[in-house]
Amino acid sequence: MSFPLQAILEPIRSWHRTETPDVLVIGAGIAGLSLALCLPEHLRVIVVTKGSLGESNTWYAQGGLAAAVGADDDPDLHFKDTIAAGAGLCDKNAVRALVDGGPAAVQWLIKHGTRFDIENESLALGKEAAHSRNRVLHAGGDATGAEIERSLVAQLRIRPTVTILDHTTALDLVVDPDGTCCGAIVVENDSSETVFIAASITVLANGGAGQLWAVTSNPPGATGDGIAMALRAGVAVADLEFTQFHPTVLSGSGIDAFLITEAIRGEGAYLLSANGERFMIGNDELAELAPRDIVARAIQRQVTLDGGRPVSLDLRHLDPEMVLRRFPTIAERLKHHGLALTTDLIPVAPAAHYIMGGIVADCQGRTSMDGLMAVGEVSCTGVHGANRLASNSLLEGLVFGLGAAEWIGSTHNPTRASLPYSERPPVDADTTTLTSIRSTRSDIQQLMSAHVAVVRDEAGLQATIDDLKVIGERVILM
Ligand SMILES: Cc1cc2nc3c(=O)[nH]c(=O)nc-3n(C[C@H](O)[C@H](O)[C@H](O)COP(=O)(O)OP(=O)(O)OC[C@H]3O[C@@H](n4cnc5c(N)ncnc54)[C@H](O)[C@@H]3O)c2cc1C
Repeated sequence: MSFPLQAILEPIRSWHRTETPDVLVIGAGIAGLSLALCLPEHLRVIVVTKGSLGESNTWYAQGGLAAAVGADDDPDLHFKDTIAAGAGLCDKNAVRALVDGGPAAVQWLIKHGTRFDIENESLALGKEAAHSRNRVLHAGGDATGAEIERSLVAQLRIRPTVTILDHTTALDLVVDPDGTCCGAIVVENDSSETVFIAASITVLANGGAGQLWAVTSNPPGATGDGIAMALRAGVAVADLEFTQFHPTVLSGSGIDAFLITEAIRGEGAYLLSANGERFMIGNDELAELAPRDIVARAIQRQVTLDGGRPVSLDLRHLDPEMVLRRFPTIAERLKHHGLALTTDLIPVAPAAHYIMGGIVADCQGRTSMDGLMAVGEVSCTGVHGANRLASNSLLEGLVFGLGAAEWIGSTHNPTRASLPYSERPPVDADTTTLTSIRSTRSDIQQLMSAHVAVVRDEAGLQATIDDLKVIGERVILM
């Protein structure tokens, strides 16, 4: 089962220029949508998203959402696996809140229309790297994120107190002289008109930053806007050096990096060197199911040893019927590149995938700035440490999105932000400048991929800092 993106993309409501919401949510992935849906209905909410509604990293998530819902599982086991994958750097209290909140959050999703795959009348549970149990819920085989977006968007459409502004990009936070966030400046993409939306609570839920690298699994919108907005406003951020490189995206010249989910290795696929050897066996006792950072580094080493020839995924020994039922989207995408998932070796390489660091936030989404909250991939709650356990990201957006909504609902009395919308002058945005800034993106991506990727050294990092300064000065002069 897969869901065409077009089906949920039409603009939903008109632009209400004079509205001042209680809560402004920036971003419409799993974190922003679940938060907006869980807010009490007496609060007026605006959700801003820079592309078509539905376009997000969430949409592309394949493998699934991890939660301890199986008969042989419990949150303590999920806790241990998360801590082990995080290389000793997880915040244990945050991990506890994440794994304990998982089962109820899954029920919330199901209640809101998400149709997870069912097997033998129970939720089907897949296995992924570094999980000691089968605990990854999936939908449409490998279309989990699309199903979650579909269901949450459908619910949001019928919520009368929520206004959705799509094709609208948040540019900057607005901070009162007393240091409280009182809303954001947004630009309507088509008209380039900038508007101040005043809100007593602003939530950054605008996702990751994979597009800082030349090779990434992330869609074009993942440009780290939320972290940049927070930095410019002086909000605390942390752990930005911890970027996860997914070990297996399709590789080859002229090919768009397309993620091949880890669940494929969970079902038994091998990683082979160019000489046909299962090189992960010598690298880690979990072999192909070692944590992502270990697999990504091992692949990088192997490619160097093999003179640049790529490693491959091999599914030829698996039941083809199971493979095609479980991974229909991937099989279809590979066909366009002339590859058959069940019979060909699939060339793969690591790609920038997920940013563990971000805006420092607690499990209710509260940041270092009053009036500003952060949830989902844009935040850094400490649950992932130095390396995220597979499928814990959708879970984080969901559990802490719901937690943030509950906190707002329990503490927030609707009051307008300090200045009503009409008293704030619109900000001039020079669209020529915006276009020029976009053209520097490729320079940044090349630099990051060359020196700030799977393996880094001091000289490369220093060279990147120097070059980024030059790019920064160029941007300021535009
Ligand atoms: C190919 C792929 C596969 C993945 N598979 C899995 C998986 O199987 N399991 C798992 O747990 N995780 C997976 N992940 C990671 C996971 O999908 C993301 O970490 C998670 O969906 C992030 O959710 P989010 O709501 O925080 O952000 P997103 O889903 O990225 O949503 C961000 C939203 O913010 C909007 N936005 C961004 N900037 C602005 C701006 N300036 N103004 C207005 N709006 C803005 C975007 O348009 C989007 O609506 C995968 C990621 C990718 C790319």
